[in-house]
Amino acid sequence: MSAILNTYNRKKISFKRGKGSFLYDSNGKRYLDFVQGIAVNCLGHSHAYLNKAIQKQSKKLWHVSNAFIIPEQEKLAKRLKEKTFADYVFFQNSGAEATEAAIKFARRYFYSKGQKRKNRILCINNSFHGRTLATIFASNSKKMTEGFYPKVDGFDHFNFGDHKGLEKAITSRTAAIMVETILGEGGIKLIPDVCLKGLRTLCNKKKILLILDEVQCGIGRSGKFFAFEHAKIRPDIVPIAKGIGGGFPIGAVLVNKKVASGMKPGTHGSTFGGNPLAMSAGNAVMDIMFKKGFLNNVKKNGEYFIKELNKLRERYPNIIKEVRGKGLLVGLCLQKEQKNFIHQLFVNKLLSIRAAENVVRLLPPLNVSKKEINLALNVINKVCENYR
Ligand SMILES: *Cc1c(COP(=O)(O)O)cnc(C)c1O
Repeated sequence: MSAILNTYNRKKISFKRGKGSFLYDSNGKRYLDFVQGIAVNCLGHSHAYLNKAIQKQSKKLWHVSNAFIIPEQEKLAKRLKEKTFADYVFFQNSGAEATEAAIKFARRYFYSKGQKRKNRILCINNSFHGRTLATIFASNSKKMTEGFYPKVDGFDHFNFGDHKGLEKAITSRTAAIMVETILGEGGIKLIPDVCLKGLRTLCNKKKILLILDEVQCGIGRSGKFFAFEHAKIRPDIVPIAKGIGGGFPIGAVLVNKKVASGMKPGTHGSTFGGNPLAMSAGNAVMDIMFKKGFLNNVKKNGEYFIKELNKLRERYPNIIKEVRGKGLLVGLCLQKEQKNFIHQLFVNKLLSIRAAENVVRLLPPLNVSKKEINLALNVINKVCENYR
């Protein structure tokens, strides 16, 4: 009997080591890993450059506290500022912490301007912003909130794609709209670029803030560093996590000047956030991701993968209903419940993970090769062929 609290339906397998796109179990069997820690290992397993960066830093200094200046943190913040809309960055350790801080920063901005009742956040029903008390009630899915009442107040909701519902839900008390640029757990649902532009315009008109949760779709996953860059808009607050540490836990919130003006020493903090060891991983990821051609390659491989998956959809319309995604954030939306399909992929040594709406999520590392994508396509084809 496991001593681990029973909160996960775990597959009865464990892995000994990983290299790039592959994992090896205790019998030495090789699996093509298109989960990658749920879009965390953006450079695959055991990447030599990341290994070296962490090893080097681990011999110098791990942790000191944000009571002191941390040069590695300054460096990563500066790079994020240079490459994105952001003027300032706050570092943490996970996605939920980042989204929760994003909510705090939005509220604090209006508080600091004397608008103390402007503190409600408008979110999409059945989205995913994390598992803390506040973020489950922001996400508003029954599966996540059941048994965890009383409700954390301060969130209003609209349905995905419901423009009228969104406009109606905005009140004088709305401080911000918070959405995932691409809904991950919710089923790889893209918000079209024109709607993202519309969201920005709407927020400007209503004088409220736009928070785009890029914890899953950010850090190169969509083929650009941030998914909202495709729509050429600038949000006010962006929580990130998953990919930024390449497997090392890092969360962060990026904000513009305006939002930053609401914060001052003592208003927020994190013990572990931004420690030198974590930052060495983040800086190493940035080194690689901004090498010439890296992001373009994600885009190219993603387009190829989605195009080929659509061919399989045409061949097996009774199994595959729709192919969703952008870049290497890919979802196969099946006609029926996806559990057995995921198991059959597993039997054929391809690892994938579920999302809502019968979706099988495929999250290769961003440096996946075309050969490995073809390997996955062959497995998916084989499973479809024998599926009933
Ligand atoms: C995974 C995820 C989170 C939560 O991240 P944790 O590190 O698990 O706390 C928040 N938002 C989105 C969009 C995510 O995909």
